[in-house]
Amino acid sequence: MKGLICLGIESTAHTFGAGIMDDSLKSKISNSYESPIRKKGKILANVKDSYTTEKGGIHPTEAKNHHIACKDKVVQDALDAAGLSMKDIDLISFSQSPGMAPCLVVGMEKAKALSAEYKKPIIGINHCIAHLEIGRVLCKCKDPVMLYASGANTQIIAYDGGKYRIFGETLDNGVGNFLDGFARHMGLGFPGGPKIYELALKGKEYIELPYVVKGMDVSFGGIQTNLKQKFDSGKFNVSDLCYSCQETVFAMLVEVAERAMAHCEKKELLLGGGVACNIRLQEMCKRMCAERNAECYIPPNSVMIDNGAMIAWEGLIEFKSRGGDDIGKLDIKPYERTDDVKVSWR
Ligand code: AMP
Ligand code: MG
Repeated sequence: MKGLICLGIESTAHTFGAGIMDDSLKSKISNSYESPIRKKGKILANVKDSYTTEKGGIHPTEAKNHHIACKDKVVQDALDAAGLSMKDIDLISFSQSPGMAPCLVVGMEKAKALSAEYKKPIIGINHCIAHLEIGRVLCKCKDPVMLYASGANTQIIAYDGGKYRIFGETLDNGVGNFLDGFARHMGLGFPGGPKIYELALKGKEYIELPYVVKGMDVSFGGIQTNLKQKFDSGKFNVSDLCYSCQETVFAMLVEVAERAMAHCEKKELLLGGGVACNIRLQEMCKRMCAERNAECYIPPNSVMIDNGAMIAWEGLIEFKSRGGDDIGKLDIKPYERTDDVKVSWR
């Protein structure tokens, strides 16, 4: 049975993604999708093209140019993967917030062009909330605390009093940007998180680093300076530094996530964001949850990194509760916060 079909466009930072989701409850699980955990909400396609560098971090203008160059192909590849054409699409959603303005504009303009050409409704979506809702539907968890650990964002989010509230967050960089910054300093390219993970596997000895949890918030700036100084001194084994870096900052994240779970009396932890693909962070989260008799839900990597499928899913659930947006009034919202969003669908 066919439900509503949404094409979602993601372009907040390094990734241009196009995902297609069908909201029908009875649809069969598609063979192309790796997770057996899904019944409701069917991913028909999830295609992306990411900007990477050999050396150095994300340059906003270069990321924008990357998105401009690949946007038409990514959307067409998603349609082809789903075996659909634009006439089969019922709704177009795009990541409207938060993110890098030059990148957001490319996704919005592509969504607007498709909406105008094919006369389809359009809806703008908050990227952080999309991470949470795709995790909720795919993992079938009901009311989780989400540890959202991505490049630009690091937040502990939970639904409380009619809103998605931020119970703790970074006071400076996102944890991914922190890892990427340290990797860049060591001469590794972007993204640096997976490279630090590989090096950390060879680490043997823990090197003392600052541990910075302030109330429910975390901060990475001082740790990064300390790590860079230690690296520059040449006195430390690089694998040990990477190992210690991961152990320290992941322990900080797990500590605040656990405190949010205790405070909200919630028994589910959901992971999201590119850094949550890290196996060591996942192990630490699972252990914390086991110790407090809670469930730890880890969506497939394909929806934890930035992707269009989650934007499509969030588009579907918001569209059903509040309808589409007025294309003439739509603009990007680079600084919108998770708790600014009116939650009409829960
Ligand atoms: P996102 O912004 O959610 O797409 O996530 C991108 C960030 O995730 C980048 O900062 C990457 O370095 C980081 N990342 C991706 N995979 C891993 C991993 N396995 N371990 C740590 N960080 C990772
Ligand atoms: Mg993200």
